[in-house]
Amino acid sequence: MPANPGSVLIKGAIIVTMDPRQRVIEGGSILVEDGVIKELKGPGSRGESRPEAVIDAKGMAVIPGLIDTHLHLAQSLLRGAADDLSLVDWLMKRVWPMQASFTEEDGRVSAELSMLEMIKSGTTSFVGVDVVSRYGFEGIARTVVKAGMRGALAKTIMDSPGYGTKRSIMPEGLVEDKDACIREAKAMIRKWNSAQDGLVKAWVAPRSLGGCSKGLYAEVADLAREQKTRVTMHLAEVKEDVNYAKKNFGLTPFGFIEKVGLAGPGSLFAHMVWLNDEDIRRAGRTMSNVAHCPSSNTKLASGIPRVPELIEAGANVGLGCDGAPCNNSYDMVREMKLAAVIQKARLLDPRTMPATTVLGMATMNGARAMGLDPKVGSIEVGKRADLVLIDLKKPHLVPYTDVVSNVIYSAMGSDVDTVLVDGRVILRKGRALTLDEDRIMSEAQRRQDDLFRRSGVGA
Ligand SMILES: [Zn+2]
Repeated sequence: MPANPGSVLIKGAIIVTMDPRQRVIEGGSILVEDGVIKELKGPGSRGESRPEAVIDAKGMAVIPGLIDTHLHLAQSLLRGAADDLSLVDWLMKRVWPMQASFTEEDGRVSAELSMLEMIKSGTTSFVGVDVVSRYGFEGIARTVVKAGMRGALAKTIMDSPGYGTKRSIMPEGLVEDKDACIREAKAMIRKWNSAQDGLVKAWVAPRSLGGCSKGLYAEVADLAREQKTRVTMHLAEVKEDVNYAKKNFGLTPFGFIEKVGLAGPGSLFAHMVWLNDEDIRRAGRTMSNVAHCPSSNTKLASGIPRVPELIEAGANVGLGCDGAPCNNSYDMVREMKLAAVIQKARLLDPRTMPATTVLGMATMNGARAMGLDPKVGSIEVGKRADLVLIDLKKPHLVPYTDVVSNVIYSAMGSDVDTVLVDGRVILRKGRALTLDEDRIMSEAQRRQDDLFRRSGVGA
């Protein structure tokens, strides 16, 4: 196959379109030309086209590229470095001191490792949060381009080193000046949001409830409106957030966010675990986007968000892997299974969160959360070709009657065989074509060892 073919025919696949009718086409074919899905056909159809490359996808499912709506690119170097700790110890004794010791090279390698894992497990688009200047925004953005993924990089905005009710506890290396944050965010938005291929976008991210003054939220809302970009932040993740918002603003976390003008379809809130009934109605009424991160919420014992209730209320809920210290992977296939099963256990109802709903969260809902739904999120003629081929010829994937059920409940990220983003093949037969797997893995190991030493955290 040519390195970057202008046209590709994928034939003989079980195509899970996730279109409005949620069609599944057995033995179908997809013709991709210049990055666009040109034809989508059933078995036996003949076309006039002469594609530059043909992928025989017999025995494979093709699903839309998975979309991770909340992850920390700079945390894959911290994998295994902060397990089985309370949230406060996790953050203050391990994650923050190590991140405060990052160099821009650490930031780049961590981003490469995160993207490598995502590509190999079928993620094509993501929202990367917690991008502080220390990690080198520019180097991370260039890594997205090199990897060939779609990435929204959310620049952290802060004016206080606090966290929750505690003041001045953030390590020096992570503290940023408000004006510098806003200046850098504007420069990145100007540079990347108008770039021609449109794969990288710059967003803005208020750091946390305790990391921003009341006035800064309104400033961030104005900045996003003026720059025509999106906002994302962690919200109502732990019970302490509720206490903090009540004490400081006299409101719930979501009530406060709505008051400062940040609720709405241009905003994406991660976690949303601690919401009261009115908050859920507000999230729905404002058509806000939510990044549900079930592995993180369960591993850090934050709680289980009321996801079916949020969806019922009208909120748009996507999925996120969060970070390596709290997940510990960036594998959306695993995340989908957990998202499906924890709600069944919480509600004592196996009918809640069916497989198609969960796949919709990881595809169309994710696209909507990123403002990309006219372009990606489903397999339809005219959309950009972000496609994932899953090899079904595995003992844990046969037999099947419902391919969507098998993808959600039985598949693993390592079953992903081929990935296309914007029509470009970036993974083939399980091997990454845009990133050097061996170099990235060995460099990541060496850099984690160095980080332990430099940060004084100790392995
Ligand atoms: Zn997070």
